[in-house]
Amino acid sequence: MAAKKLNLDDVAAFTKKAAEKNGWVLNPDSDFRESVEEGLYNNYLQYGYLICPCREAWGEKDKDRDVVCPCDYCADDVKEFGHCYCGLYMSAEFVASGEEPGSIPERRSPELTPE
Ligand code: SF4
Repeated sequence: MAAKKLNLDDVAAFTKKAAEKNGWVLNPDSDFRESVEEGLYNNYLQYGYLICPCREAWGEKDKDRDVVCPCDYCADDVKEFGHCYCGLYMSAEFVASGEEPGSIPERRSPELTPE
C-alpha cells in the first residue's frame, strides 16, 4: 500500500508533535512559523522528506539525514541559543524572554554541506 502523502496541515501537526515530544515550543509568531512549515512542505514535495528549509540539500536521503527536521543539531541549538537554526523550535525560556530568534552559527560541518 502506498504511503499517505503529507499535506501542509500534516506538516504543522508533525512540528507540533516534535516540539511536544522534545520539550520545545514552536515559535509563537504564526506567520514566521507557517513560512518555515511551508519551506519544509516544499522540500517534502521536491525531495520526499522534510529537509530543513534553511539549508542546502543534496537530494539524497542518506546525505541529508542529519538535516531532516528536527535536525541532529536542533537539541544543542535550542539548549545553547534558545532556538534552532531556522527559529522554528524554541525553549520555553527563550519564548518567555520575548527575544526574537537571530542568526546562530551553523553546526553542520562544511563536509556534510553541498557547495
Ligand atoms: S533548523 Fe533543524 S529543527 Fe529547525 S527547522 Fe531546520 S531542520 Fe527543523
